[in-house]
Amino acid sequence: MILAVASGKGGAGKTSIVAALVASLGPACVMADCDVDAANGAIALGAHVSETEPYYAGPGFEIDSAVCTGCGLCHDACRFNAIAADKGKRRFAIIPELCERCGACLDRCPAKAIRSFEKQAGRLFVSDTRLGITLVHAELVPGEDTSGKLVSKVRERADAIAGGRSIIVVDSPPGIGCPVIASLSGSDLVLVVVEASSSGIRDAERLIKLVSSMGKKSVALINKSGLSASMDTRAKSMLSSAGIPLAGEIPFNPILRSIEEQGRTWIDVEGTAGNSVRRALEAIQGIITGLSRKKRRS
Ligand code: SF4
Ligand code: SF4
Repeated sequence: MILAVASGKGGAGKTSIVAALVASLGPACVMADCDVDAANGAIALGAHVSETEPYYAGPGFEIDSAVCTGCGLCHDACRFNAIAADKGKRRFAIIPELCERCGACLDRCPAKAIRSFEKQAGRLFVSDTRLGITLVHAELVPGEDTSGKLVSKVRERADAIAGGRSIIVVDSPPGIGCPVIASLSGSDLVLVVVEASSSGIRDAERLIKLVSSMGKKSVALINKSGLSASMDTRAKSMLSSAGIPLAGEIPFNPILRSIEEQGRTWIDVEGTAGNSVRRALEAIQGIITGLSRKKRRS
């Protein structure tokens, strides 16, 4: 059973909800933090890395200055302005941040001074956490643009660890781009976290359209409700028009933020704020249990 938790925008409270959810599910679940551009599941769960593996996204290119004759043909061949020349146009160097890895310079160089090499674009980690839950997460080297591929690697590793027995909770990246699609693929259910704000509702609506175009089942949770009655009504009406069941809502409460600063999750909060979190998570767990049974029977 794979549950993906997504929100159309950053800052909607998705990772906090994922951390509370995995804390309530316990060590039997595996968490896959697919927000590889800004992974913070490790901080939320107090992770200790037990395994690290390099992530290679494809070839990188470099010029061997000892072999380069300074003819400048590579500079002319590069359509991405990724080859810098010195003032006298005698020395050339590839700018990794601009290089699109097309290989045109390699073909053009008569002196065979350009070589390709496996370029490390990030790292994948498997971590133990203070909650006893295994966390799979990753980091992409800044400037690398292959986050969808790294997200798929995180998902594959989490699948292998779960071995079809445990529930996998996926923390999807924000937005509706390629990395989000990679994080949602293969999931049995998508929990859409809707922030009760104008941009939160608009972005969640775009996400719901994406989820529905992928043929995925989804439920929603409204976060930061209670700040504006009109936003709460708009969020509910948007979900109702889209036919998405509402599993619960979590009113805005500064206590929730302060509990995270103490290294705890939202289910540790006592009183009204904690009760609304627990109610929402119980509803989601009920849906997960129902779907898992159905899956086992089919
Ligand atoms: S691989 Fe392509 S983009 Fe990169 S430096 Fe060579 S020609 Fe330019
Ligand atoms: S084409 Fe080859 S030899 Fe000519 S400047 Fe580029 S790297 Fe140097």
